[in-house]
Amino acid sequence: MKGIKDDGSAIQVMSVDDSAISRKMIKKALEPEGFVICAEAGNGKEAVDLYPKIKADIITMDVTMPIMDGLDAASAIKKINPNQKIIMLSAMGDDDIINDAKSRGIEDVYCKPFKAPELIDRILKLM
Ligand SMILES: [Mg+2]
Repeated sequence: MKGIKDDGSAIQVMSVDDSAISRKMIKKALEPEGFVICAEAGNGKEAVDLYPKIKADIITMDVTMPIMDGLDAASAIKKINPNQKIIMLSAMGDDDIINDAKSRGIEDVYCKPFKAPELIDRILKLM
């Protein structure tokens, strides 16, 4: 069970994506390995509002979302907690987005469609 830490507790993941199907796919990829989806949000603003009430080891963050996109949401969350680990899940792999994400302190950018084993490896690399 890759989602279980050495102390026996589960790795907590917040999943942020405007697509309910994407959120379901992330859940389906992670839960069989013991990860816990501790929170979900459907846009960046929802994520930022929810963030102070939860404790996530990792946030998976979509880029393109209504109201507030993933880049701005990641910046706002990093302002609250600079140590929060965030993986950007981008449908577009262009350098602009990757560089923008890196400049905001986002730890990793992974291009969709994701593969469950690779998403898990990338999460574990940040732990
Ligand atoms: Mg989206």
